[in-house]
Amino acid sequence: MKRFLVFGLIFFLAAVNFFNQFSLYPPLGSVKISFFSVGQGDAILIVTGDKKTLLIDGGPDKSILSEINSALPWWHRHLDFVLLTHEHDDHLLGLIELGGRYHFTQVMYGTVSEENNFIKEWFADLKKDKIKKYQIKALDSFSLGKYCRVNILSAAVSREVNDQSLVSELVCGERKFLFMGDAGEAIENILIDEGLGAYDLLKVGHHGSLTASQEKFLKIVRPTIAVISVGKNNKFFHPRPEVLTRLQKTAGDILRTDELGTINIIANNKEIYLRRGP
Ligand SMILES: [Zn+2]
Repeated sequence: MKRFLVFGLIFFLAAVNFFNQFSLYPPLGSVKISFFSVGQGDAILIVTGDKKTLLIDGGPDKSILSEINSALPWWHRHLDFVLLTHEHDDHLLGLIELGGRYHFTQVMYGTVSEENNFIKEWFADLKKDKIKKYQIKALDSFSLGKYCRVNILSAAVSREVNDQSLVSELVCGERKFLFMGDAGEAIENILIDEGLGAYDLLKVGHHGSLTASQEKFLKIVRPTIAVISVGKNNKFFHPRPEVLTRLQKTAGDILRTDELGTINIIANNKEIYLRRGP
Protein backbone atom coordinates (compact mmCIF):
# COMPACT_ATOMS: atom_id res chain seq x y z
CA MET A 1 0.00 0.00 0.00
CA LYS A 2 2.81 2.38 1.01
CA ARG A 3 4.67 1.64 -2.21
CA PHE A 4 1.50 2.30 -4.20
CA LEU A 5 1.18 5.73 -2.52
CA VAL A 6 4.81 6.61 -3.31
CA PHE A 7 4.40 5.65 -6.97
CA GLY A 8 1.13 7.59 -7.07
CA LEU A 9 2.83 10.68 -5.66
CA ILE A 10 5.72 10.43 -8.15
CA PHE A 11 3.24 10.06 -11.03
CA PHE A 12 1.24 13.04 -9.75
CA LEU A 13 4.34 15.27 -9.48
CA ALA A 14 5.51 14.22 -12.95
CA ALA A 15 2.07 15.04 -14.37
CA VAL A 16 2.05 18.46 -12.65
CA ASN A 17 5.54 19.16 -14.01
CA PHE A 18 4.48 18.09 -17.51
CA PHE A 19 1.44 20.38 -17.58
CA ASN A 20 3.44 23.27 -16.02
CA GLN A 21 5.75 23.07 -19.01
CA PHE A 22 2.84 24.07 -21.27
CA SER A 23 2.32 27.23 -19.21
CA LEU A 24 5.74 28.44 -20.42
CA TYR A 25 4.01 29.33 -23.69
CA PRO A 26 2.02 32.56 -23.65
CA PRO A 27 -1.76 32.24 -24.14
CA LEU A 28 -3.09 32.35 -27.71
CA GLY A 29 -3.35 35.95 -28.89
CA SER A 30 -0.46 36.99 -26.60
CA VAL A 31 3.27 37.31 -26.94
CA LYS A 32 5.94 36.67 -24.30
CA ILE A 33 9.18 38.65 -24.42
CA SER A 34 11.95 37.45 -22.09
CA PHE A 35 14.94 39.66 -21.46
CA PHE A 36 17.35 37.11 -20.12
CA SER A 37 19.63 37.76 -17.19
CA VAL A 38 22.96 37.21 -18.96
CA GLY A 39 25.08 39.88 -17.26
CA GLN A 40 26.46 42.66 -19.46
CA GLY A 41 24.90 41.87 -22.85
CA ASP A 42 21.61 41.24 -24.62
CA ALA A 43 19.66 38.03 -25.11
CA ILE A 44 15.96 38.40 -25.80
CA LEU A 45 13.56 35.55 -26.54
CA ILE A 46 10.20 36.27 -28.14
CA VAL A 47 7.57 33.52 -28.11
CA THR A 48 4.15 34.03 -29.70
CA GLY A 49 0.90 32.40 -28.61
CA ASP A 50 1.13 30.16 -31.67
CA LYS A 51 4.59 29.02 -30.51
CA LYS A 52 6.81 30.81 -33.00
CA THR A 53 10.17 31.87 -31.60
CA LEU A 54 12.67 34.62 -32.28
CA LEU A 55 15.90 35.02 -30.33
CA ILE A 56 17.55 38.44 -30.59
CA ASP A 57 21.23 38.05 -29.59
CA GLY A 58 22.72 35.44 -27.27
CA GLY A 59 24.51 37.38 -24.54
CA PRO A 60 28.22 37.16 -23.70
CA ASP A 61 28.64 33.53 -22.62
CA LYS A 62 27.05 30.22 -21.60
CA SER A 63 24.52 31.85 -19.30
CA ILE A 64 21.93 31.79 -22.07
CA LEU A 65 21.76 27.98 -21.83
CA SER A 66 20.06 27.78 -18.43
CA GLU A 67 17.91 30.80 -19.27
CA ILE A 68 16.53 29.36 -22.48
CA ASN A 69 16.07 25.94 -20.87
CA SER A 70 13.80 27.43 -18.25
CA ALA A 71 11.95 29.68 -20.71
CA LEU A 72 10.85 26.92 -23.09
CA PRO A 73 9.38 23.46 -22.40
CA TRP A 74 12.04 20.72 -22.31
CA TRP A 75 10.87 19.26 -25.63
CA HIS A 76 11.07 22.59 -27.47
CA ARG A 77 14.61 22.48 -28.88
CA HIS A 78 14.38 24.65 -31.96
CA LEU A 79 14.19 28.37 -32.66
CA ASP A 80 12.44 29.64 -35.78
CA PHE A 81 14.52 32.81 -36.11
CA VAL A 82 17.80 33.90 -34.58
CA LEU A 83 18.81 37.51 -35.14
CA LEU A 84 22.28 38.85 -34.32
CA THR A 85 22.07 42.64 -33.94
CA HIS A 86 25.82 43.18 -34.32
CA GLU A 87 29.07 41.33 -33.91
CA HIS A 88 30.19 42.42 -30.44
CA ASP A 89 30.97 39.59 -27.99
CA ASP A 90 28.23 40.53 -25.52
CA HIS A 91 25.62 39.77 -28.20
CA LEU A 92 27.30 37.03 -30.23
CA LEU A 93 29.14 34.55 -27.99
CA GLY A 94 26.04 33.02 -26.39
CA LEU A 95 24.70 32.20 -29.87
CA ILE A 96 27.81 30.11 -30.52
CA GLU A 97 27.17 28.28 -27.22
CA LEU A 98 23.65 27.37 -28.37
CA GLY A 99 25.02 25.58 -31.44
CA GLY A 100 24.36 21.84 -31.39
CA ARG A 101 21.95 22.24 -28.46
CA TYR A 102 19.14 24.05 -30.30
CA HIS A 103 18.28 23.86 -33.96
CA PHE A 104 17.72 27.17 -35.73
CA THR A 105 15.50 27.36 -38.82
CA GLN A 106 17.00 30.63 -39.97
CA VAL A 107 19.72 33.00 -38.82
CA MET A 108 19.74 36.70 -39.69
CA TYR A 109 22.58 39.16 -39.34
CA GLY A 110 23.59 42.59 -40.66
CA THR A 111 27.01 44.04 -41.38
CA VAL A 112 29.75 41.85 -39.91
CA SER A 113 33.51 41.79 -40.34
CA GLU A 114 35.08 38.87 -42.17
CA GLU A 115 38.08 39.35 -39.85
CA ASN A 116 36.13 38.63 -36.67
CA ASN A 117 37.23 35.16 -35.53
CA PHE A 118 34.04 34.55 -33.56
CA ILE A 119 31.94 35.37 -36.62
CA LYS A 120 34.10 32.95 -38.65
CA GLU A 121 33.59 30.25 -35.99
CA TRP A 122 29.83 30.83 -35.83
CA PHE A 123 29.36 30.82 -39.60
CA ALA A 124 31.40 27.60 -39.85
CA ASP A 125 29.18 25.99 -37.19
CA LEU A 126 26.03 27.08 -39.05
CA LYS A 127 27.36 25.66 -42.30
CA LYS A 128 28.21 22.37 -40.61
CA ASP A 129 24.68 22.18 -39.14
CA LYS A 130 23.12 23.16 -42.51
CA ILE A 131 21.39 26.20 -41.00
CA LYS A 132 20.28 28.88 -43.46
CA LYS A 133 21.70 32.33 -42.84
CA TYR A 134 20.53 35.55 -44.38
CA GLN A 135 22.12 39.00 -44.41
CA ILE A 136 19.33 41.35 -43.61
CA LYS A 137 18.68 44.87 -44.96
CA ALA A 138 16.69 47.82 -43.68
CA LEU A 139 12.98 47.51 -44.52
CA ASP A 140 13.16 43.70 -44.55
CA SER A 141 10.20 42.22 -42.77
CA PHE A 142 8.97 38.78 -41.77
CA SER A 143 6.00 37.32 -39.99
CA LEU A 144 6.37 35.63 -36.61
CA GLY A 145 3.34 33.41 -36.34
CA LYS A 146 -0.14 34.45 -37.37
CA TYR A 147 -0.46 37.80 -35.67
CA CYS A 148 3.06 39.20 -35.15
CA ARG A 149 5.41 40.81 -37.62
CA VAL A 150 9.04 41.91 -37.36
CA ASN A 151 10.17 44.96 -39.33
CA ILE A 152 13.83 45.86 -39.64
CA LEU A 153 14.14 49.62 -39.18
CA SER A 154 17.89 49.98 -39.45
CA ALA A 155 20.75 47.90 -40.82
CA ALA A 156 23.35 50.61 -41.25
CA VAL A 157 26.86 50.29 -42.58
CA SER A 158 28.98 52.39 -40.24
CA ARG A 159 32.53 52.69 -38.91
CA GLU A 160 30.91 52.54 -35.47
CA VAL A 161 30.08 48.86 -34.91
CA ASN A 162 27.31 49.68 -32.40
CA ASP A 163 25.53 51.72 -35.06
CA GLN A 164 25.55 48.70 -37.35
CA SER A 165 23.04 47.10 -34.96
CA LEU A 166 19.94 45.71 -36.61
CA VAL A 167 17.16 47.78 -35.09
CA SER A 168 13.82 46.01 -35.23
CA GLU A 169 10.22 46.53 -34.27
CA LEU A 170 7.84 43.76 -33.33
CA VAL A 171 4.19 44.46 -34.06
CA CYS A 172 1.58 42.11 -32.56
CA GLY A 173 -1.97 43.34 -33.07
CA GLU A 174 -2.07 46.83 -31.61
CA ARG A 175 1.17 46.39 -29.61
CA LYS A 176 4.53 47.68 -30.77
CA PHE A 177 7.93 46.87 -29.33
CA LEU A 178 11.23 48.51 -30.31
CA PHE A 179 14.60 46.75 -30.02
CA MET A 180 17.54 49.13 -30.45
CA GLY A 181 20.49 46.73 -30.08
CA ASP A 182 23.45 48.97 -29.25
CA ALA A 183 22.58 51.63 -31.86
CA GLY A 184 23.35 55.19 -30.79
CA GLU A 185 22.24 58.76 -31.47
CA ALA A 186 23.15 58.80 -35.18
CA ILE A 187 20.71 55.96 -35.82
CA GLU A 188 18.08 57.48 -33.50
CA ASN A 189 18.23 60.66 -35.61
CA ILE A 190 17.70 58.70 -38.82
CA LEU A 191 14.71 56.89 -37.30
CA ILE A 192 13.23 60.22 -36.14
CA ASP A 193 13.64 61.64 -39.66
CA GLU A 194 11.88 58.57 -41.02
CA GLY A 195 8.84 59.27 -38.85
CA LEU A 196 9.37 57.12 -35.75
CA GLY A 197 6.34 56.92 -33.43
CA ALA A 198 5.45 55.75 -29.94
CA TYR A 199 6.00 52.20 -28.61
CA ASP A 200 4.59 50.09 -25.80
CA LEU A 201 8.07 48.81 -24.98
CA LEU A 202 11.60 49.99 -25.69
CA LYS A 203 14.68 47.80 -25.29
CA VAL A 204 16.94 50.70 -24.38
CA GLY A 205 19.90 51.13 -26.72
CA HIS A 206 23.41 50.08 -25.68
CA HIS A 207 22.67 49.00 -22.10
CA GLY A 208 21.83 52.56 -21.01
CA SER A 209 25.06 54.09 -22.33
CA LEU A 210 25.37 57.83 -22.89
CA THR A 211 25.91 57.13 -26.60
CA ALA A 212 22.18 56.38 -26.98
CA SER A 213 18.73 57.39 -25.66
CA GLN A 214 18.87 61.12 -26.34
CA GLU A 215 15.95 63.08 -24.95
CA LYS A 216 14.29 63.97 -28.27
CA PHE A 217 14.27 60.28 -29.22
CA LEU A 218 12.73 59.20 -25.90
CA LYS A 219 10.10 61.94 -26.11
CA ILE A 220 8.89 60.42 -29.38
CA VAL A 221 9.08 56.76 -28.34
CA ARG A 222 7.40 57.41 -24.91
CA PRO A 223 7.49 53.72 -23.96
CA THR A 224 5.10 52.32 -21.36
CA ILE A 225 7.94 49.99 -20.40
CA ALA A 226 11.65 50.61 -20.91
CA VAL A 227 13.93 47.60 -20.41
CA ILE A 228 17.66 47.93 -19.77
CA SER A 229 19.67 44.76 -20.28
CA VAL A 230 22.77 45.30 -18.19
CA GLY A 231 25.23 43.50 -15.87
CA LYS A 232 25.56 44.24 -12.14
CA ASN A 233 28.50 46.55 -11.36
CA ASN A 234 29.66 46.52 -14.98
CA LYS A 235 32.92 48.24 -15.88
CA PHE A 236 31.17 50.68 -18.23
CA PHE A 237 28.99 52.14 -15.43
CA HIS A 238 25.86 51.34 -17.48
CA PRO A 239 23.16 52.48 -17.20
CA ARG A 240 24.32 56.08 -16.93
CA PRO A 241 22.44 58.30 -14.45
CA GLU A 242 21.77 60.89 -17.16
CA VAL A 243 19.98 58.24 -19.25
CA LEU A 244 17.96 57.09 -16.25
CA THR A 245 16.85 60.68 -15.60
CA ARG A 246 15.74 61.04 -19.22
CA LEU A 247 13.85 57.76 -19.01
CA GLN A 248 12.15 58.80 -15.76
CA LYS A 249 10.73 61.79 -17.63
CA THR A 250 9.57 59.91 -20.71
CA ALA A 251 8.93 56.23 -19.89
CA GLY A 252 6.38 54.49 -17.66
CA ASP A 253 8.21 51.66 -15.87
CA ILE A 254 11.98 51.25 -16.11
CA LEU A 255 12.95 47.60 -15.70
CA ARG A 256 16.59 46.46 -15.38
CA THR A 257 17.98 42.95 -15.63
CA ASP A 258 20.72 43.78 -13.09
CA GLU A 259 18.01 44.46 -10.52
CA LEU A 260 15.24 42.04 -11.49
CA GLY A 261 17.09 39.17 -13.19
CA THR A 262 15.23 37.83 -16.20
CA ILE A 263 12.32 40.06 -17.16
CA ASN A 264 9.26 38.40 -18.73
CA ILE A 265 6.70 40.63 -20.37
CA ILE A 266 3.38 39.25 -21.55
CA ALA A 267 1.31 41.40 -23.87
CA ASN A 268 -1.90 41.21 -25.84
CA ASN A 269 -4.27 43.86 -27.18
CA LYS A 270 -5.87 44.31 -23.73
CA GLU A 271 -2.92 44.34 -21.36
CA ILE A 272 0.85 44.34 -20.98
CA TYR A 273 2.40 43.09 -17.78
CA LEU A 274 5.50 41.79 -16.05
CA ARG A 275 5.27 38.10 -15.20
CA ARG A 276 7.13 36.68 -12.21
CA GLY A 277 8.98 33.42 -12.86
CA PRO A 278 9.71 31.95 -16.30
ZN1 LIG B 1 26.26 45.42 -26.12
